[in-house]
Amino acid sequence: MDAQGRVPDRITVVSGGVGGARFLQGLLRLIEREAARTRVTVIANTGDDIWLHGLKVCPDLDTVMYTLGGGIDPERGWGRTGETWHAKEELAAYGVEPTWFGLGDRDLATHLVRTQMLDAGYPLSAVTEALCRRWLTEAYDDRVRLLPMSDDRTETHVVVDAPGADGTIEQRAIHFQEYWVRHRAELPTHGVSVIGLDQASPAPGVLEALTDTDLVLLPPSNPVVSIGPVLGLAGVRDALRETSAPVVGVSGIVGGDHVHGMARQLLTATGVEVSAAGVAEHYGARSGGGVLDGWLVDEVDGGLVDRVAGAGIACRAVPLMMTDHDATAEIAAAAIALSRG
Ligand code: GDP
Ligand code: CA
Repeated sequence: MDAQGRVPDRITVVSGGVGGARFLQGLLRLIEREAARTRVTVIANTGDDIWLHGLKVCPDLDTVMYTLGGGIDPERGWGRTGETWHAKEELAAYGVEPTWFGLGDRDLATHLVRTQMLDAGYPLSAVTEALCRRWLTEAYDDRVRLLPMSDDRTETHVVVDAPGADGTIEQRAIHFQEYWVRHRAELPTHGVSVIGLDQASPAPGVLEALTDTDLVLLPPSNPVVSIGPVLGLAGVRDALRETSAPVVGVSGIVGGDHVHGMARQLLTATGVEVSAAGVAEHYGARSGGGVLDGWLVDEVDGGLVDRVAGAGIACRAVPLMMTDHDATAEIAAAAIALSRG
């Protein structure tokens, strides 16, 4: 990048799990390449959190933490590298439900530490900081900070058609993890509800990270179940509307569908058009009470640039496939360039 395209000193990223973590790897590659001293604050979704076997599991926080700390299984994209599954097998041998969630032996240690600290009265933000001391503090010389969106319990549920006890199909709300991990998002889907969100407060540092920063980035994380819960927290939309930092997002919808995951199903269920332009309009222009100043769409969606611009959001079409860290670094660079007009 040229001098004008310098990486800002402070960047805040609102993230889900896998897609957000991959984007962050590219951003960190860019920072390293430019020898910048950028401080990155990640606000991670906690709507995916779930209690399992008495343990508090935070999939998005852990995916970001393991990925940036070099502990992620690169093939799966979640969970620990070098993982074994003895505890899961033993639980199944006892017939203990649920059996569909992949709790690896190494991963379990994280959940044990977290649950013990929560039981001792520490808020999730303090627990996360403690866990990140192992994964992030040294590796990034204290320049990468991971914040849970909230210390309060929120749980995303998806309303689906599912067989009831007597086998007849009925509408039920199931935990997002059950929807995604157990049912692969293949059940007829009617809506999404983040339980507890209306009573939850942003965690310490979250609103400040949105206002006292030079750039806010929304990676191609799921707009409904990853970015959506963060935007739904009290004060977050106001902070994004009022911050002096530009807010730029990257479309996770390419060519009218998600790249991985279940965004198509969830956008459809919430009445949002499944296109890069539809998601941009869903977030809305800051000038019109929404959250975006800029939006990157993939080259295949170049035909949508004028429509997004017409909605008051600066828009550019660039390659958006996060095939490796260097390709993803270019996406981050394009987002920074767009933030400068
Ligand atoms: P999370 O939302 O960050 O927890 O991660 P998920 O992996 O659940 O979903 C991320 C979103 O990123 C999905 O909607 C995907 O379509 C999108 N995505 C995944 N890989 C890519 C990619 O290479 N490029 C783009 N533009 N989007 C991607
Ligand atoms: Ca997630």
